[in-house]
Amino acid sequence: MSTQLLTGNDAIALGLVEQGCRVATAYPGTPSSEILAGIIKYKKALDKDLYAEWSVNEKVAFEVALAAAWTGLRAAVAMKQVGLNVASDPLFSAAYTGVKGGFIVIPADDPGPHSSQTEQDSRLLALTAKVPVFDPSTPAEAREMIADAFALSERFKIPVILRPTTRLCHAVSPSADAPASSSDGKPVSPKFQKDPAHWTATPKLRYKLHTELNQKLIEIAAEFANSKYNYIVNEDHGGEVGIIASGVAFHTARQALLELGVRVPMLKIGTPYPLPVNLIEAFSARFTTVIVLEEPDTCIELQIPNRQRVRGRLDGSVPNSGELTPEVMFSVLSKSLSGVGIQVNPSPEDADLSAAIKKLSLPARRPRLCPGCSHRSAFYAMKQNFGPRAIYPGDIGCYTLGTNLRAVDTFVDMGASITMANGFFQANRLVGDDRAVIATIGDSTFLHSGIPPLINAVHTGARFVLLILDNHTTAMTGFQPTPANDYLADGSEAPRKVSIPDLVRACGVEYVKVTDPYEQEDFTAILNEAQAHTQAADGGVAVIIADRPCVLYDNDPILEHPIPVVVTDECDGCRFCTEAFECPALVLRADGSHVDIDYKLCIDCGQCIDACYKGFIVPKLAEMVP
Ligand code: SF4
Ligand code: SF4
Repeated sequence: MSTQLLTGNDAIALGLVEQGCRVATAYPGTPSSEILAGIIKYKKALDKDLYAEWSVNEKVAFEVALAAAWTGLRAAVAMKQVGLNVASDPLFSAAYTGVKGGFIVIPADDPGPHSSQTEQDSRLLALTAKVPVFDPSTPAEAREMIADAFALSERFKIPVILRPTTRLCHAVSPSADAPASSSDGKPVSPKFQKDPAHWTATPKLRYKLHTELNQKLIEIAAEFANSKYNYIVNEDHGGEVGIIASGVAFHTARQALLELGVRVPMLKIGTPYPLPVNLIEAFSARFTTVIVLEEPDTCIELQIPNRQRVRGRLDGSVPNSGELTPEVMFSVLSKSLSGVGIQVNPSPEDADLSAAIKKLSLPARRPRLCPGCSHRSAFYAMKQNFGPRAIYPGDIGCYTLGTNLRAVDTFVDMGASITMANGFFQANRLVGDDRAVIATIGDSTFLHSGIPPLINAVHTGARFVLLILDNHTTAMTGFQPTPANDYLADGSEAPRKVSIPDLVRACGVEYVKVTDPYEQEDFTAILNEAQAHTQAADGGVAVIIADRPCVLYDNDPILEHPIPVVVTDECDGCRFCTEAFECPALVLRADGSHVDIDYKLCIDCGQCIDACYKGFIVPKLAEMVP
């Protein structure tokens, strides 16, 4: 059998398509974003009849896929881990109602966290919701688990979670070639059968369903005890210590043990919930110490009934937060094993390499908005206009980087900029504080979960300025379409697109202005007008839609009207522009004497001209005129 190299996200996508998934939905979020794109790619390659959509948020995505599973079709929904919070309401309910066709929920966790606001462990949410979990260790295993997850889901009529993590989503491993085009796997009777006892949320019936769910979990735990995803390596090496590991941590631990020069029996768990406790106890009984290695939290460790001999994140033997990187794993195992008298190899750290890297004195670079990003122009105007006393609630997206520009004071979760602005206004009002509150949110985030908070703010009489930073796409995760775009997930034309200004007006907002943040003068005038509306006797929430496409998505407007700039010799290197405007193409000379334009990065947007308050950044043509 020939093989190909697949990322974890592609392996999951291929597994879903080849196993006859008919409806796949998602909301983009790193590290999960490539799953739906992969599904569309394999649907075309394998000529499958499959519906795929980028939904407006994770709850919507979950429910669209769930309905398909209730008709008997195989369905799946993907999201990042914090997205599962948004979808947790239907998740909990779906565990009770169960499903008819196989239903796989794929929340991608982010130990680290590399690009998330929390390190939450979706396995623990699954434990609370009572939904079985498959926890793959490699891309190939994730693909293989899809078949078993669908089968389990259909056999027990229950949603099943497949939980990958960042390293798995983006890692590449060999996997069997995709099968040639095949039948589309249409089920025999894909139709919704009315059954109010199952599909309606009547409390009395739900009690019965809860009892049935508990029974299903007992049976699934017994089945998991014999799962091929739970096995022991280094079985023939005895001793006092055993290791239980899952997910990517299993392979990292194996590699660390090799480097340490020891072979310790290790139980690999691929089905962490419901945990096959008998298997764990039989394994643990052989040792005086059992080390549990999992991430990002303690799903397996928590479920072990007798933890007297267990060492892990709960007793501090393993750090209680953060990714189990090779360095962390090496240190944890080295310490734990030598602590019980096992001889280990010395640190494999290359002291010379570390010293050489240190000598390079590489400057720390923080993430920044792209050159020419219109969010920077909006933030700059906002900050210059309202100053440091104003409160700036921000939101989730690339514009969260407005924190560097001191134009984002808070970010909590999707849509919270509007609710926080509401809260700040109400709190300030109580104590007679009249400071300006200016919230920012992206177009995709506004559609995801900004609308109910805006309705709430209007209805409760809050007064603040809301800037919707509309860059025409979901830029941070790879330009997935929103309902305001005229194309769908597979690139085909959308039947209709939603107007953000109309939506805002429909929420009851009376002051709605659409303006281009590149037009700094007009933009600033509108900011002042909007703020005045929040203070007028008959005023209220004022919404400005800062309308300019992401420069990576569509830079035609700049190409049509380029404004090349130059920094004049008078520049004294005061750093105001690099710190207050922070375009990556503005570069301070090594001796700090002058700022130059890095023309490899500069896109000729001309937006920095006003960012030198001394007037030393000028249009190139003007400087050339004698
Ligand atoms: S260009 Fe202007 S703001 Fe920037 S460092 Fe030079 S003098 Fe300061
Ligand atoms: S013109 Fe100025 S703001 Fe625009 S990319 Fe170039 S340096 Fe950055």
